[in-house]
Amino acid sequence: MKLGYPRALTYYDYFPFWAGFFRELDIELVSSPPTHRTMMEVGLKKSPADTCLPIKILIGHLNSFTGVDAVFLPRLVSMEEGTYNCPKVLGLPESILGSIPPELEVLSVDINRRSGVRAVEKSLIQWGKCFGKNKHQVLRAFEEGERCLDAYRTMRKQGWSFEESMAFFENDNDLPLEIRNRLTLKKPPKTEKDQKIGQETSQGKEYRPTIALLGHSYLTYETYANLDLLAKLEDKANLKVIENVSDQVAAEKQKSLQKSIFWSHSRKIYGAGESYLEDPKVDGIIYLSCYGCGTDSLTNDLMARRARARQKPYLVVTLDEHSGEAGMVTRLEAFLDMLERRIGYENNLPPHGEFVDCHSGPV
Ligand code: SF4
Repeated sequence: MKLGYPRALTYYDYFPFWAGFFRELDIELVSSPPTHRTMMEVGLKKSPADTCLPIKILIGHLNSFTGVDAVFLPRLVSMEEGTYNCPKVLGLPESILGSIPPELEVLSVDINRRSGVRAVEKSLIQWGKCFGKNKHQVLRAFEEGERCLDAYRTMRKQGWSFEESMAFFENDNDLPLEIRNRLTLKKPPKTEKDQKIGQETSQGKEYRPTIALLGHSYLTYETYANLDLLAKLEDKANLKVIENVSDQVAAEKQKSLQKSIFWSHSRKIYGAGESYLEDPKVDGIIYLSCYGCGTDSLTNDLMARRARARQKPYLVVTLDEHSGEAGMVTRLEAFLDMLERRIGYENNLPPHGEFVDCHSGPV
């Protein structure tokens, strides 16, 4: 059996799990190609008007599949205790069935870790029966999926980029686990570009601010939709992303809120953001959001208030399907110029300077 997995939304966090799970069950799992213009156009045309950009991209990917027996689109209700996924993720796949070809079979299974790991196993065992797999086979596959997900997270912590680590699970699915685990202990060698950047910085030739990029993984690493923002920033700054902050630290930072945020992604974004706000080595924060995102309307506002209180430079980049590259580059350059000026002239205030900010309006 050959299943298709769309390279969108949950792919960016959980593909390694499903790659391991299905390999163990002897089911081939193929992902759709990276987003391209036609795919995006199809997604936009077929999506409900009021949905967010990542769901539109998902619909584009689902419409691109050929030569698979079915596509797999799990309903990820909750991936950790005490949290839920965003309602738009929770509503999949039913909410988008009208936007994909009727002949395309969609397979789905409920994953709800809020009720504990046993509930997830039970749900998978029940679902595995549709493929003629018994309880032991499914439990083994679940274990393998968990190991792959752990390996992926370890790789990211050890400095592998998203593309490097994901290529590993895309291409090397047949490698035995021991080899994959061993490989995760080594960080890939530095590219020529990295070495050049390192030399320039150590010789003091170029001013490179440190920027923290906050946002959902499926926007941060979706290079077509975000107009290759990551590469543009890495070219000019030392970049930090939310994966550089451990889950424990992010959870700790929640405690400053009266009530914890209950959407998984927003919780991590907020926790990482708070940690970067407190870090004096971080010169500025960029929040990458998208038009139509419900959870960002809360998290972004919270972050903006915190950044203002701490006087940390803060830029919001909102993507939609019409985002133009020139506009984005202009804003990034203006932000980076502002950071450079700030470092140079921060203490050079006129006598009334300290009062200017306290009377200005909200961000
Ligand atoms: S969190 Fe925002 S961007 Fe993500 S699926 Fe929900 S509404 Fe869309």
